[in-house]
Amino acid sequence: MSENNTIFGKIIRGELPADVVHEDDHVMAFRDINPAAPTHILVIPKRYIVNTLTADSDDKELLGHLVLACAEVARKEGLDGYRLVINNGESAGQTVFHLHAHVIGGRSLSWPPG
Ligand code: IMP
Repeated sequence: MSENNTIFGKIIRGELPADVVHEDDHVMAFRDINPAAPTHILVIPKRYIVNTLTADSDDKELLGHLVLACAEVARKEGLDGYRLVINNGESAGQTVFHLHAHVIGGRSLSWPPG
């Protein structure tokens, strides 16, 4: 995999600051800099994956771990419900090309998203 020069790669390496709320050997979770809701946390794998379109079967365990970490983060935030969003590719609104799951909650959310 090529070098991870994304903002999130820099956060993982400690080159940029982040408001980290959860971390283990495989994932890191930090508050979104431009929150869309009272709780808006990004959960990222430490391994460099661009998005789910580039993920493969070697990432299966990591991605399962990531989803469970999102639930753990939501519980820690005291949420009884939350939205889990992964934007995959520019046309879907992805702006940072290191896979990240948005944990969004703390207000009533409408559907469908824009
Ligand atoms: P995307 O549009 O799904 O790629 O989401 C990228 C998210 O990263 C956006 O919600 C941004 O507000 C957020 N973001 C960008 N830079 C930073 C940062 O340095 N710290 C925390 N969140 C960031």
